[in-house]
Amino acid sequence: MPTPRTIAIDGPAGAGKSTIGALVAERLGYLYLDTGAMYRAVALAALDRGIDPDDGAKLAELARSVRILIGPPTVRDGRAYTVLLDGRDVTWPIRAAGVDRVVSQVARVPAVRDAMVEQQRALATQGRVVMVGRDIGTIVLPHAERKIFLTASAAERARRREEELAARGEARTRQQLLHEILRRDQLDRERAVAPLKAAQDAVVVQTDGLSVQEALDRVLAVITRPNAPRS
Ligand code: C5P
Repeated sequence: MPTPRTIAIDGPAGAGKSTIGALVAERLGYLYLDTGAMYRAVALAALDRGIDPDDGAKLAELARSVRILIGPPTVRDGRAYTVLLDGRDVTWPIRAAGVDRVVSQVARVPAVRDAMVEQQRALATQGRVVMVGRDIGTIVLPHAERKIFLTASAAERARRREEELAARGEARTRQQLLHEILRRDQLDRERAVAPLKAAQDAVVVQTDGLSVQEALDRVLAVITRPNAPRS
């Protein structure tokens, strides 16, 4: 059975999409695109220029003018990929707390999404791809051959985020992280354009209590089984 050519992985913040998506892509030898990094890069550019995250017109102009490139890691520091914003390496700056706070406001602007989705679709035409985000199975690649909705409880996602940040030497309390995750979930689920939701034909994978390896095994099982059930 040939493996599907386009694999869409969606889900809320902290569900493990980026980790699992990168591992799936590595295992299958596919291109990997974490679309959240693109929205984060636009959010960082907005912060750098002092643009109000509620100023849709300025954000739209910004999203159309910045050049975002995501490619293989250029530095061995634990990164899964390198993000360039107008030639500057912003792989770590896009993970800062300031970006977490504004990214969902930036991502709800329709023209910002149009600019990003165009680039995402162009990349998908280049070959076999694992694309990770919020709206990949619903909007970006509605014809993706396999769709997975990876999820976990908010408490579990906050716990994982705390561990991930602690490993990078950043201390934020679990309470703060939970608050931020719930706020981002709400903005992402309730926005008018491309809200976070599972595609009708996505397979939902619940990762509470699973190790990375266990979650990876479940996702690979869904990808390689002959016919994914429609839910
Ligand atoms: O996945 P990550 O947490 O890095 O995404 C950051 C934010 O970017 C999300 O909270 C969401 O607002 C936005 N996003 C989006 N559509 C995507 C990927 C991310 O709106 N496909």
